[in-house]
This record gives sequence, C-alpha cells and structure tokens, in this order.
Amino acid sequence: MSSSTSTNPKLSNPAKAAASEHKPSNFLRQIIEHDLACGTYTTRHWGGSPGDAAHHRGHADPAQEPTNALDPAPVRTRFPPEPNGYLHIGHAKSICLNFGLARDYGGVCHLRFDDTNPEKEDLEYVNSIQDSVKWLGFEWNGAPNAAPYQASDYFDFMYRAAEYLIEAGLAYVDEQSAEDMRSNRGDFGKPGVNSPFRGRTPAENLLRFREMRDHQHADGAMVLRARIDMASPNINLRDPAIYRIRRATHHNTGDKWCIYPMYAYAHPIEDALENITHSICTLEFEDQRPWYDWLMERLIEGGLLSAPPPKQYEFARLNLSYVVTSKRKLAQLVYDHKVSGWDDPRMPTIVGLRRRGYTPEAIQLFAERIGVTKSDSWIDYQTLEGCLRETLDVAAPRAMAVLDPVKLVLTNWDELHGVDTLDACSAPVHPHLPGLGRRHFKIGKEVWIEHSDFCEAPPKGFFRLFPGNKVRLKYGHVIECTGCAKDSEGKITEVHATVVPDTKSGTPGSDAVKVKGVITWVAVADGLSAEVRLYDRLFTDAQPDSGGKDFLASLNPNSLKVVQAVVEPSLASAKADDKFQFERHGYFVADRVDHAAGKPVFNLAVGLKDGWGK
Ligand code: ATP
Ligand code: MG
Repeated sequence: MSSSTSTNPKLSNPAKAAASEHKPSNFLRQIIEHDLACGTYTTRHWGGSPGDAAHHRGHADPAQEPTNALDPAPVRTRFPPEPNGYLHIGHAKSICLNFGLARDYGGVCHLRFDDTNPEKEDLEYVNSIQDSVKWLGFEWNGAPNAAPYQASDYFDFMYRAAEYLIEAGLAYVDEQSAEDMRSNRGDFGKPGVNSPFRGRTPAENLLRFREMRDHQHADGAMVLRARIDMASPNINLRDPAIYRIRRATHHNTGDKWCIYPMYAYAHPIEDALENITHSICTLEFEDQRPWYDWLMERLIEGGLLSAPPPKQYEFARLNLSYVVTSKRKLAQLVYDHKVSGWDDPRMPTIVGLRRRGYTPEAIQLFAERIGVTKSDSWIDYQTLEGCLRETLDVAAPRAMAVLDPVKLVLTNWDELHGVDTLDACSAPVHPHLPGLGRRHFKIGKEVWIEHSDFCEAPPKGFFRLFPGNKVRLKYGHVIECTGCAKDSEGKITEVHATVVPDTKSGTPGSDAVKVKGVITWVAVADGLSAEVRLYDRLFTDAQPDSGGKDFLASLNPNSLKVVQAVVEPSLASAKADDKFQFERHGYFVADRVDHAAGKPVFNLAVGLKDGWGK
C-alpha cells in the first residue's frame, strides 16, 4: 500500500498539516493573488465587528477621514450555511476551500448562519454545524471560540437598506398576485411586463412597506421589489423580490418581524457588512451575480455600505458518486428510517463520516485533491476512500481480527507444547513505526481462522488451508492441514492441522519451511468477541438522484452486515473513535456511540484495497 508523503500523523492540527503541503494553484487563488498584488482591498477599514459604512469608518460623517484602523485581514471569506440540516461532504469542500484560502493568505474566514428563512431552522443544526467546522480543524471569525455571525442580526440594516432603495426610487411594493407576477416576469425569449404598481411614488411605497412591516397585510399579499429592468435578458434583474410577508417565529428574532428578506437580497448585504472580500459560492448562483453587484453599487452610492464591495465567484459544487448531498434527501433517509440517524456511518454527513472512521485530515486531503473548477463533474467515491486509506495507513495500529470464525484445532499441539500450554507471540503495532512498540497475544491448541481460509476441494490458485497444504499462521507457526470435522448437515465445524516443529516466526530457522499462504488468526484462549459492522455503499446506482430519479429506488439492501467477530486481545483497550487496521481486512474504528469496554463494536471504515466491482 502506498503511504502518502503529503500527510503527517504527527501534526495534531489537521489545518496546519494541510497548510504545510504544496498547494496547486486554481482560479480562486489566482484571483486572490491578483487582488493582493493590486491592493484591491487595502483601503478597507474594520470596525471590529460586522456593520455598515459608518461602523467601519468609526463615525457617521462620510466627509471625514475614518477613525478606525485598516482591516487587518487582507482576505475575508465566509462559509454561510443555512441551519436547516447537518453538514455533508459537499459542505466540507466549501469549508476547506473558504477556511483554507483565508488561512493560506493570512486572512479570516467567517462562519455565518444564513438564517434569514424563519421556518426551517433549528438550534440542533446550529450546534452541530459549529461542532463539524471545529472538528474539521477550523476556527472562525478570527479568534478561538468566537461566536459565529448570524444573518438575522442584520435584519435591522436590511430593513433600513430597503427603505433607502424605496426613497431613491429603486424599489416598490408590488401587489400583483403571485401568479400575475410570475407570468409578467416573461421568460428567456420573452421580456417581462411592468407591474401596474411599478409607477408608485417613493412616498406611497414607503407607506405601504411600513404597513407590511407593521402586520397590516396578509402573508403573501404583496412584496417589495427592486426596480431594475423588466426587459433585462437576465431574468434575475427583472425587478427581483426583496422582502416578503411571512408570519413566522424566528429562532433568533422571535416575533419581531413579519417580513423577511429574500436570500438573494440578504446575502450580498451580509457579505458587505462583514467586509467579505471574496464571496465564493456554487455555480447555480452565477446568474445572480449581476443582481449582487447592482445591489452593492446602489447601497455604496447611498452611503450605507463602504467601498470596495465584496465580489462573488462561483465554483462547481461537489457531486460524489454513490452519494446524495441534498439536505432534503438526507433528511428523508433519516425520517424514513432508512438509516439510523444523521450520524449513521453510511451517511455522507460530517457526523456520519466521523462515525465511519473518517478523520479531518482525510477530508482535508480529499478537498485538496479534488481541487476547485468552474464546471460541474462527478468525483468518484473511490477518491474519498483513497484519502481515508492513505491517511489511516500511516498511523493506524494493526490488529488481527477474524470476522467469520471457524475453529482450527492443532492436533499435535499437546504433544509438542504440553497440554493446555499457550505460547506467546508478538507483532509490531505498526510496521513502519517501531516507536509504537509491539502487541502481544497467545497461541494454543485452538485458534479462530476465517471460514474462507479453508477449502476442502480448493480451486486452482488457492494457497490457503486444504488437506495436505501448509500455511503460516501470521506471527506464529507453519501448520499443515489434515482435514476437518462436519456436522450432520455437512457444515464445517472444525478445521484440523498439525504444527510443523521449529517454524515459529522470529525463532532461528523458522523460515526453513517455505509456504505460499499466510493467514490471520486469533487464539481461542485470549480472543475477544466483538461486534463488527461491515458497511457498504448506501446506493447501488452511481448517480442515485440524477435526472429526477427516485434515489430511494437504488438503496443498497446490503449496505450493512453485522457480524460477531473475534479480535486479538490488544483491542481490549480500544476507545471510541480509535482506528485500526485489521490485517487483511481493512480499516476499522471503534464506534463512537455504541463501543464500550467489555462490549466492543467496530465499524468498517474502508477496505484495504478498492474492492468495488471486483
Ligand atoms: P442543500 O441543497 O443540501 O440544502 P445548500 O447549498 O442549500 O445545500 P447551505 O447550507 O446553503 O446548503 O450551504 C452552505 C454552503 O455550502 C454554501 O456556500 C454552498 O454553496 C456550499 N455547499 C453546499 N453543498 C455543496 C456541495 N455539494 N459542494 C460544494 N459546496 C456546497
Ligand atoms: Mg442553500
């Protein structure tokens, strides 16, 4: 197995580990480097917290010099999740990208809850999102344990900006029905039609807008729209909605508001208040960029926001084969009990990946490796698994485990070693890290081996146990198979073999007998019983939800198989989240929920080699 030179298990902080790697360039790095070289953002001042132009300037008078210091952060990026679900591997790409760029260019990345939609949000998600970002190795807002920003804290400003737009003749209250508004918007080939309410005076609009705010109109009765251009070829510029009426309790602002800003209006304002320089989002927002820029320019003209404005850049979202990354669909898997919860080890959520045995280092390596591009593509699931395998290989202690045990009886043991005698064996904890020491276990007359390591009538090329063949018990002796015992149904109940004298690993002359097969085993005398959960992909279709497919139709019925295994005694001290390589099988993690001393539970994180489809 190849071990990665790009990862170092000794670096405890994965963010630092990734930072020490050579970074291939990408279009976002080029943009940032260009802005740094040109000093695009060097004139910005920072009021110490998010705020409007006056806040960052230090006083209300635009004619006077700012009293606040220049922004100490040359680059400000942000990760703005909506707290309406658990973060998944797609979010991890965005987190690693935004926090990684800020880190690499000496800047700051903001964690901001985009909580402008009152209905779907929940504190459970707010907490889990913070845990996941922290676990991935990142700090936000420039200080350890800083509070995340919340878009809802900017509602007052957003409201004020809306009144400004109305006063400047740049926004109006539209009372058309939703249906009329839709049909009057036109489409790609057809320009829109002006609303009959478009010509109202600023005074009339202001009055109406305040009525909207003051609970005087029903939900959906009217909206505030920007007045831009109903004939624009970009449909997003055909008088986009700014505010809607929605009587809903918000988890942060309670019942203070019955009008809420639209996402495409709120988002640029959030960026600007926070002095964001590079606002990086996924490609589907590309068509929104002109509206983003229009709004920024108007609010700077009005003196509400400071210049220069943040700029939006788009990158391709992560599409990972055999995975769905829509929060709504992931929620459906949870609520329909297709999985055990958001942290089911088959889920692509950060909490699920963590429980599966993924490390922050593996996820960061994955994000680096897939890079960022401007066109959509699918990343093979094996790329993610490869990153996990590589990062675990360099550090995970080794252990022997028998997942499908059958008893092997060494029929000449008593004669050679004495009745009830056990012999001590040992093996390195890690083959390349001698400093980790050795693990110790026993061998005796009876050992557990894998069912599949014995075959009465072997096919060609089978080098393991069959009558007359010799194999080595890894770290133990060479044995010669003599046969087996069966029950009345013909099922094999025991395998029989004899020990070849003087062949114990590590003793002089032990190599004299050459064998083609080496098998893993655990002694009956000191083996521990353990539950092992063998996970496979959750879907059998590589693109479970593409083209409107019903993703539930391709759920893999064999995505979880639970076996009762026997593992070597060194695993008695395994603690939740500890990861191991079970020799010949793969990488396993002690389950962070169910594993306990005396009741071990291990999850398959990833197999040793990519075995899918072979
Ligand atoms: P979903 O559609 O699953 O609800 P979302 O995009 O609505 O996802 P947000 O909470 O708004 O989820 O996402 C926060 C950030 O994460 C956004 O900047 C978004 O662009 C980014 N993001 C979400 N999904 C992906 C993905 N698959 N690949 C890359 N970035 C993503
Ligand atoms: Mg979203």
